[in-house]
Amino acid sequence: MKKSEKLFLFTITPVQDFISQSRKLRDLLGSSQILTDLSAIGMKICEDAGAQVVFPYFTQGDTNRSYPNRFMVKFANVDKRRLEELAKTIENSMKNHLQEAVHIDHPQILKHIENYFTFYWAWCDMENDYKRAFDTVEKRLAGAKNTRFFRQLGDGLGEVGRKCSVCGERNVIVHNGLKLPDIQIRRDDPIREKRTYIVQKGEGLCGVCYLKRIYGKKSFESTAEIAMMHILHRLDMEQFPHLKKDAQLLYEENLTSEYFRKNGIDGDLKVYQKEFANFEKVRKDLGLKSTSYYAVIMFDGDSMGEWLSGKKLKDPSQTEKFHRYLSQKLGEFAAYVKSEIGAPKGVTVYAGGEDFLGFVNLHALFDVVQMLRSKWDEIVADPLNSEFDFVEDEKMTFSAGVVLAHYKTPLGAVLRKAREAEKAAKEYRATKNMLCITAMKRSGDRRSSFVDFSQLHLLPKILQQLQENFSDKFMNVLDEEFEVLGSPMEEMVQIELKRLLKRAKLRDDVSIEPLYEALSELLSMDYLQKAPANFYQQSVIANFVNNLYLLRFIKRQFV
Ligand SMILES: [Zn+2]
Repeated sequence: MKKSEKLFLFTITPVQDFISQSRKLRDLLGSSQILTDLSAIGMKICEDAGAQVVFPYFTQGDTNRSYPNRFMVKFANVDKRRLEELAKTIENSMKNHLQEAVHIDHPQILKHIENYFTFYWAWCDMENDYKRAFDTVEKRLAGAKNTRFFRQLGDGLGEVGRKCSVCGERNVIVHNGLKLPDIQIRRDDPIREKRTYIVQKGEGLCGVCYLKRIYGKKSFESTAEIAMMHILHRLDMEQFPHLKKDAQLLYEENLTSEYFRKNGIDGDLKVYQKEFANFEKVRKDLGLKSTSYYAVIMFDGDSMGEWLSGKKLKDPSQTEKFHRYLSQKLGEFAAYVKSEIGAPKGVTVYAGGEDFLGFVNLHALFDVVQMLRSKWDEIVADPLNSEFDFVEDEKMTFSAGVVLAHYKTPLGAVLRKAREAEKAAKEYRATKNMLCITAMKRSGDRRSSFVDFSQLHLLPKILQQLQENFSDKFMNVLDEEFEVLGSPMEEMVQIELKRLLKRAKLRDDVSIEPLYEALSELLSMDYLQKAPANFYQQSVIANFVNNLYLLRFIKRQFV
């Protein structure tokens, strides 16, 4: 058999459903970590067999990285039979890893997991043409997926019985009333989590969702914890030994016998209530406000398919060099981002380089988005432009979706909304490179607004003025006045804005200038961009007002 230089592409599926079918933040962290660990296993096997990893940027043994569900490697001298052996080895090693991660020998759980994942791979001879081989191997992999052989009922679909509370697809195996000591307690966890913290009363998990639940290494993070991080990090939580177990207990609404019963907390409610009163006192003395909301940030590089195809390079023969350089830069960026976002800012669920998913505290939101953006330019986009010549001097950008959500809103719905916001940001204009923010209020209001990244610095400025110096009633007036006009002239809005701000200031000695200037700038840039016909059909003024409403909502969480 012919030995030659080959590109080899391997992928783990499914990915989208696997991640989004999550009820708790720990399910999400678990699924992201599973994909990262599986990819790392595959890449290590390839590297040990002499391959070079092209995508993603891979460092053996680095446990602080996120990897996507696919990787591409290059072999200098290999034949087809060897590749087939390797693919089999990779698949088996991944399956073994998953089995070991379950910690118990439970045939039904193992069967669900074994049948859940499908692995695809493809290869192509390089024949001294990297770009052509890259296109071909991508096409071959897509073809392999299309001819997927459907297993009948094999993955637990179609089973008769109670369905899993997380995915709703497979049958429940692990539930709260189960008398299986091995399942109830994680063997690897020194804290020896009680079963009740893993599976709530009334909740039932299939084998796959159980694995996600127990897999997460940062297993105690919850959306409530993210929402309260600004407080948790200022207080010595050792003073509150009962409350610190579960951030949901920091909300009075959960200090009920009903909540305790559901979550299997067997302590005395009165003790918790007393501790809570003390917590509230300390919190208020520090001037900190509780909020029930947190933010999800999701972004994805713009037009990555086109970038990777090499079409944007003035010299397409540089595609391989470009891939290697890009891969390395994205790796550096991801590592930076992951190290930068921790408490009290939030937690990174996934940072693969060109895509990101993170949960952040509202107080850190604007700083984090700005950091992501400026570091993207500094670490990825600018170096690419100085290293390569692109047609039309294009620059690599990303579009982001942000969702503000209540800690009790089902996570699946929040993730869907974040994906929608990211998509809306990309569709807003042809050049993409946009941010869309949606506030998912508990009232059901789901208003979205769009901001250009160059405008982002204005939002915290405006927020600060609104917090300190102005009543926010002027927003409704502005909204009502201009709703009928559709898209009024910019000067008209400015004059009216000035008049309204004069009336809205809280004290006589307040100057309207700082707020007026920031608002005018926000408005001018919206006018400049002339919000193209997008499916939201937002007029310039409607977007401006929606941004104001967004800031009013955030302000009310802070003061
Ligand atoms: Zn499930």
